[in-house]
Amino acid sequence: MRILFASSEVHPYSKTGGLGDVVGALPAELARLGHEVLVLSPWYRDLRKGRPLWIGDIEVPFAGGTDAVGVGTLEHDGVRFGFVGHEDFRRESIYGYPDDVRRFCRFTMALPGVAERLEFVPDLLHVHDWHSAYLPMVLKERVRDESLLSEKLVSEGGPARLGSVPPAVLTVHNAQYQGVSGAAETLHWLNLSASLATEAVFSGGSANALRAGCSYADQISTVSPNYAEELTEPEFGYGLENDFQRFRHKLVGILNGIDTEEWNPANDPHLPEPYSLDRMNGKGAAKRKLCEVAGLDEDKPLLAVVSRLAEQKGIDVFLDAAAGLVEQGWSLFLLGTGDASLERRIRELSEADAAISSQLSYDEGHAHLVYAGADALAIPSRFEPCGLSQLIAMRYGTIPIARATGGLRDTIEDGRTGFLFDILQPERLTACAARAMSSYGTSDWKKMMSTAMDQDFSWKRSALQYEEMYRSLTSTSG
Ligand code: ADP
Repeated sequence: MRILFASSEVHPYSKTGGLGDVVGALPAELARLGHEVLVLSPWYRDLRKGRPLWIGDIEVPFAGGTDAVGVGTLEHDGVRFGFVGHEDFRRESIYGYPDDVRRFCRFTMALPGVAERLEFVPDLLHVHDWHSAYLPMVLKERVRDESLLSEKLVSEGGPARLGSVPPAVLTVHNAQYQGVSGAAETLHWLNLSASLATEAVFSGGSANALRAGCSYADQISTVSPNYAEELTEPEFGYGLENDFQRFRHKLVGILNGIDTEEWNPANDPHLPEPYSLDRMNGKGAAKRKLCEVAGLDEDKPLLAVVSRLAEQKGIDVFLDAAAGLVEQGWSLFLLGTGDASLERRIRELSEADAAISSQLSYDEGHAHLVYAGADALAIPSRFEPCGLSQLIAMRYGTIPIARATGGLRDTIEDGRTGFLFDILQPERLTACAARAMSSYGTSDWKKMMSTAMDQDFSWKRSALQYEEMYRSLTSTSG
């Protein structure tokens, strides 16, 4: 099958979070299953790795006319990549600009032309998050216009030009981000007729890319079965809960995997010693090294956090619970960056308490040492579509202590591979950590570590589920 992926991020070229990880790993796994995949993404100013071969400029439709974009390509791990170049993407960051929706509408409008330039005719479209979510609508509305036109031509004795659009999947990695903009200007960017401003896509004069994607995609997927359910509730749907309810029949949850080569304690260059289930000494060595660097007492159980410091992640609640956790006997280490007020609080706590230490930066190498060296990982998320950090922690024999939400609930078994708590309050988190503490150092804890390390979170498992979904869509579409 020929599958076209479209995403604003793809690891190892660009990444701010889990979206980049997924789009970086899933296509390679699909290629191993025998599929042909083309991944289209913006050509950012600072691609983190590799240099695409520049093919040339093409004219693509945009904002009532046409516009030139550059096309670059490279191949990696059996997958073809196409990069869409434009001044709009040559900025310091990937996101965070007032014209983000316009920028990604431009990206979306370039996709069919870039695929054509790369001579790729897809059997299926797979778009990710709001950034490319308008693609199914743009293509289907274009074909509808063409078929109206061809009906007219046929009735007038002219040629028929009926096109068709391959089935489209939209994956929602995080429903909090939706791509909202003014309806009239958005229709203009997308070269669509103003008569399309229907309730199904637009409301209150606003256009919403994620909502449009949900309406026009043949299948909506999200990154865990539990988050698929949660999206239909006001707490998690961020205003789209009624849409997700309406589209429940085409909404599925497929868990993410992790790159088990990159995250492998038996072969991890960031660790002082490798380790695996039958040779666990290296985990102690990693803890010693981490404690030495962090200035923490290595004899105490170590509870770590590796996270973006954003409201979603509940780090404020963790900090509220910090004193209670230290009282229980834990040392705490936080690796994270983001919200300035959270960073300030973390700095203050680390200075005030010898049992708390932190590194306020994004540091992939150090993250490996933290996952290996910690005894437990705290993940107190307000919501968590899938979550990768608990999967990585388990692979390193580090026990997650997590809020029972989204993918955390799907991937952690309370008392077997980790500890879960329901309500996001400091005292609930401390009570959950107390349960972990009472098991720490016992044979139960050791058993839990080995059960956690034995779990299969490989991408292969997820890729097979995506493949089944693609097959059901392409077979029904004929
Ligand atoms: P999200 O995508 O919402 O940030 P996920 O758990 O899905 O959350 O993925 C987070 C990824 O980013 C994980 O691979 C995690 O190890 C990594 N990460 C988060 N913060 C840092 C940091 N400060 N340094 C290094 N890696 C980090």
